Amino acid sequence: RVAVPSSHPHNAVQNTAARRSGPRFVEVMRPMSDKIDTLLKEGRVIQPSARTKAAAHIPDYDQAYKASIADPEAFWGGVAKELDWFTPWTRVLEWNYPWAKWFVGATCNIAYNCLDRHANSWRRNKVAIIWVGENGEERIFTYGELLRQVNRCANALKALGLKQGDRVTIYLPKIPEQVVAMLACARIGVIHSVVYSGFSAPALASRIQDAEARLVITADVGYDRGKTIPLKPVVDAAVQSCPSVEKVVVVRRDALGVALTAPKEIDWTDWLKEQSAVCAAEPLDAETPLYILYTSGTTGKPKGVVHVHGGYMVGTYITTKYVFDLKEDDVYFCVADPGWVTGHSYIVYGPLLNGATILMAEGKPDYPNPGRWWDLIARYGVSIFYTTPTAVRLLMKYGEDWPKKYDLSTLRVLGSVGEPINPEAWEWFYRVTGSDKPIMDTWWQTETGAILVTPLPSVPLKPGSATRPFLGIEADVVDKEGHSLPSNAGGFAVIKKPWPAMMRTIYKDPDRYKVYWNTIPNCYTAGDVCRKDQDGYMWFMGRADDVIKVAGNRIGTAEVESALVSHEAVAEAAVIGKPHRTAGEAIKAFVILKQGYQDSKELIQSLKDHVLKELGKIAVPQEIDIVPSLPKTRSGKIMRRVLKAKELGQDVGDISTIED
Ligand code: ATP
Ligand code: MG
Repeated sequence: RVAVPSSHPHNAVQNTAARRSGPRFVEVMRPMSDKIDTLLKEGRVIQPSARTKAAAHIPDYDQAYKASIADPEAFWGGVAKELDWFTPWTRVLEWNYPWAKWFVGATCNIAYNCLDRHANSWRRNKVAIIWVGENGEERIFTYGELLRQVNRCANALKALGLKQGDRVTIYLPKIPEQVVAMLACARIGVIHSVVYSGFSAPALASRIQDAEARLVITADVGYDRGKTIPLKPVVDAAVQSCPSVEKVVVVRRDALGVALTAPKEIDWTDWLKEQSAVCAAEPLDAETPLYILYTSGTTGKPKGVVHVHGGYMVGTYITTKYVFDLKEDDVYFCVADPGWVTGHSYIVYGPLLNGATILMAEGKPDYPNPGRWWDLIARYGVSIFYTTPTAVRLLMKYGEDWPKKYDLSTLRVLGSVGEPINPEAWEWFYRVTGSDKPIMDTWWQTETGAILVTPLPSVPLKPGSATRPFLGIEADVVDKEGHSLPSNAGGFAVIKKPWPAMMRTIYKDPDRYKVYWNTIPNCYTAGDVCRKDQDGYMWFMGRADDVIKVAGNRIGTAEVESALVSHEAVAEAAVIGKPHRTAGEAIKAFVILKQGYQDSKELIQSLKDHVLKELGKIAVPQEIDIVPSLPKTRSGKIMRRVLKAKELGQDVGDISTIED
């Protein structure tokens, strides 16, 4: 199922791996012979305000980028010096293709840099985390208090005999204990594996088994749109098939409390009660694994991506600082769940490394009403707001009256991640927040650890484009042989040099790691298709696996979906290719309508006419289904492969990550 041209120099490696792993390789990017057609003509440019530019950490991107690329090791070494290390490195990078070691010989600890560095300074009593529960409950942690909690938890881990290299699975709702547990593991060199608390027992079990976790940390219940979701029974069911699990620690939130069976099951509060609030951070080799995170599984079976203390710390630290132009008095709100990489890098590690004040809010954007997030922004004076295209489209569906009710004037910088943001959704987000807050469309992956392609607030923006590579990153669009493509030709998004926050391997599956660096020669293949415009701006066009081939043209999903979303009646759209006798494939679209619109023959025709006008004949969907919802991962990404399999009556494959 891996279609690699036989002439490919790395064919042998891939085929061996594919034979061994079978269908798990289904998601591997398949280089195609043709280029991707560019259809979308989006010409708007939004200039940064003079004030934003003047105040920014990086006021001149071009100059800073050029300098960073001239000597990437000097650039990354310089960044690393802004953080604390127990012993310095002898070399910034040791690159033994495709294996990288960053900050060779150095010792450090990411938790030390997230906590002690601040708690030992005037920031001791600065607010680190403001947590708001779905029910309005509020908990506030200063850096000093967070450090004490983490130390208690680290000592409790030690008391259970956990030591460096052991794995702990964290299956918690979005509560502060999640952050405490992650940092406590990091503090003593234990590897955490956070599993999103929406996963079912089999999905949780397979992740615990893969990691061979000795301990699971969970809660009795979670809350979702006012409903109480029992979590403990899910863990009970999962651990039955996980012989590695010795203990289960349970955070009890529900007043009724769940019964625990000693000695295997321990109450979180009891667990920490007797522990000292002092615990020195372990000096760890920079390459010590920090966590395993299973990717969201939009395309196939999740992979255990491994990140390490040193390089990951450097990458998340500097991207948070520069991309969001983070300043001392910002209030930073990222809506992700720590169960996803965005939560790891941009709720927990990146912001804490910078000593930021973080708003962490449980719950959905439209519960109890679609004003939920706007209300939080107004109430806490949020200045940086990082969200997803799927959430923006959801809020768009409810209309502009909701954001209008709230004072959003504290906002300064906005962010988007997870999927291409349709220009229409971009415009809406920009307008309802006051038409003067730059939107950082950040492109990256679980595997990349940190943001790689993104604007900075001082960079002119084009709605729908993630703009240009972050400092120190060489990104390009190439054909399957790795040759750069001319402006506006679509091809494969690749990264040409290693970067500090890159994954180091796939847990227990190094062959699967190598595929990323061996699919296209001499670079990291992201598996996304993209084009670079005449100004070097990158436009992500969708996943390589989802590209649709119509009559010799290859069309990325994002452009057709964006054209549909720009129709006044459409809230959301997903397109797939369906076999067609003469054209090879025909486009089929699934569309969610905005409130107040009805399915009708006229509407379907008007959608087709609209795509015709926006993109041309080749992109017009042959079929359009109006649907109430789309299959999504729990992180909010559309799962086109599921739509396609259902449409074709095929097996839908691994859907452990599906939302509904
Ligand atoms: P899996 O790899 O298991 O199928 P996944 O790719 O959805 O799951 P993530 O690592 O969470 O897992 O997502 C990374 C992907 O999300 C990117 O490869 C890209 O397709 C998409 N993406 C993320 N941010 C952006 C963005 N700003 N613009 C366009 N696409 C984005
Ligand atoms: Mg992926």
